Amino acid sequence: MSNPSILKLYQDKFKEIVPPMKPEAARVEADRCLYCYDAPCVTACPTHIDVPRFIKQLASGNPTGSGKTILEANALGHSCARVCPVEVLCEGACVYHDWQEKPISIAALQRHATDHIHKSASFPFKPAPDNGMKVAVIGAGPSGLSAATYLRRMGYPVTIFEKRKLPGGLNTFGVAEYKMDQRTSLEEVKMLFRLGAGVVMGQEIGKDIKPEELLSEFDAIFVGIGLGQTHALRVPGEDLKGVWDALSFIQCVKARDLKPLGKSAVTVVIGAGNTAIDAVTQSKRTGAAKVVMAYRRGEADMRAYDFEYDLAKKDGAEFLWNAAPVRILGKKKVEAVEFQRTVSPKSKFKVPCDRVIKAIGQSKHFSLAKSFGLALSEDGRIKVDPATLKTSHAKIFAGGDAINGGKEVVNAAADGKRAAWGIHQTLQPGTPAPSGSEYWVSTIDGRKVAPIPPRGTHG
Ligand code: SF4
Repeated sequence: MSNPSILKLYQDKFKEIVPPMKPEAARVEADRCLYCYDAPCVTACPTHIDVPRFIKQLASGNPTGSGKTILEANALGHSCARVCPVEVLCEGACVYHDWQEKPISIAALQRHATDHIHKSASFPFKPAPDNGMKVAVIGAGPSGLSAATYLRRMGYPVTIFEKRKLPGGLNTFGVAEYKMDQRTSLEEVKMLFRLGAGVVMGQEIGKDIKPEELLSEFDAIFVGIGLGQTHALRVPGEDLKGVWDALSFIQCVKARDLKPLGKSAVTVVIGAGNTAIDAVTQSKRTGAAKVVMAYRRGEADMRAYDFEYDLAKKDGAEFLWNAAPVRILGKKKVEAVEFQRTVSPKSKFKVPCDRVIKAIGQSKHFSLAKSFGLALSEDGRIKVDPATLKTSHAKIFAGGDAINGGKEVVNAAADGKRAAWGIHQTLQPGTPAPSGSEYWVSTIDGRKVAPIPPRGTHG
């Protein structure tokens, strides 16, 4: 990024919402923790990080041990400290809420500890000796990276196949820049790659590499392919210049590639999930004078978290409830969106604008799943055994958005861990757990499984 005005814009508008904690502040905050027995914050974390343990290690001046505790349970603990919706996970479950007091700032402390590990540039884990059983990981997003990390630690030679030119998946391309920049995501990936996974970038399975080749070459395959394109609105005018899908828009912002975005006096964002909010706030921060978020249902039905909604309000966004787009108007480029009210009277009206961003969810990667012959749910998610994440194919496991339809990075990280354990149990049934895995493998009904995310995670 050499353009000084773009550099200034990013420094001013995209500085991280939550700044790093100073060491003294971290020590004081860590001292507030009650180190609860059966801590609810641990249960609320899909990867079951031992929160009281890592906080106690911080309080006793051991940030290296603290970071290790975090990364033991969650290979993506560095990015999760920035992007997790902690208000509804660990911090939301903290016992301090019972006394109407501020919960422990778990995410900030987690970040403090993992920043320390990354600054010292010494990843605290090593791979076990190669066991010769090869595993292919399709997708270098959060679930694939997590699976590859735990598999390498158990000695499996792993090759990751990624169709993009950079690894990290949504962490690199889709997370709002003020939550985590691209550099941090890539820094985390670099650290994980030190465990020695092979990486094949820019190659798509099903297009550049045949699925049969993987099946014959590898002993197991993990599918962590996330979701596909943003859904189409299916209204006239959708192909006009100035109509964006939210992920492409956010990708340009994250890559500092602002030229294709152009200037906008009025941007209309269609949708009301967390991605829609990201599109709203990033539009405002890249200079759109006015941003209107439109949703076909009411405010109470919006899917975005409350804190995300608050952020959009703080950024000065306007909201249009109970309004469905019926067409996008313009000669060569977008000039307005025509809406119809979804409540009585069902009148039509126009909102003049020069940019439209679609954020109404993403499609599933049906074709790759079908090319492996995997069983799918009615809505296109890959069906898995919840304990091992094994699909309908004996050699193939899956995790992340491809099985849950689109959840958090931490859910994908938990899936990668559980699938790694499922692969290990399938390829080497009955072998003892590797040393250190007592922290990331729990026993349920006498059967060892990687921690199961909270109820409902897999729909
Ligand atoms: Fe500490 Fe709160 Fe977790 Fe208890 S619930 S261990 S006080 S962070």
